[in-house]
Amino acid sequence: MPSFVIQEKCDGCKGGEKTACMYICPNDLMVLDPNAMKAYNQEPDQCWECFSCVKICPTQAIEVRGYSDFVPLGSSIMPMMGTEDVMWTCKFRNGLVKRFKFPIRTTPEGEANAYKDLKGKDLDSPLLSTEEADGRVLPKPLALA
Ligand code: SF4
Ligand code: SF4
Repeated sequence: MPSFVIQEKCDGCKGGEKTACMYICPNDLMVLDPNAMKAYNQEPDQCWECFSCVKICPTQAIEVRGYSDFVPLGSSIMPMMGTEDVMWTCKFRNGLVKRFKFPIRTTPEGEANAYKDLKGKDLDSPLLSTEEADGRVLPKPLALA
């Protein structure tokens, strides 16, 4: 179920050098047609369906869609990003609409530090980052009574 850009809604991120969907896609799938100033998924088969582009698009121009031969059209899932939560609007084929709100990570962009909890660890060691020299792996498994 690859991502799909609704051309009428895409504004090419207003001519920015790198669009939001290009920036966020972990598989570098999104590209911008510079003439039409519209983005598209250049290799739908490689889409991971991670919804990152759907969530970041400022104009809600991207959907993740099933192919119509096995997922009948008419349903949709659209996120609306807030500063502290994301609201998902799920439309079912029979017209029923349900909304779900979830909190999101609020770490400012560029400040996430994957190595913060590994301070003092030898990252060049062949051991796993959670593995001790004696072979124990942290966190310790719960002792069975
Ligand atoms: S993020 Fe949205 S508006 Fe920006 S280029 Fe991609 S599809 Fe278009
Ligand atoms: S859903 Fe994920 S993998 Fe697919 S195009 Fe969007 S960001 Fe890339």
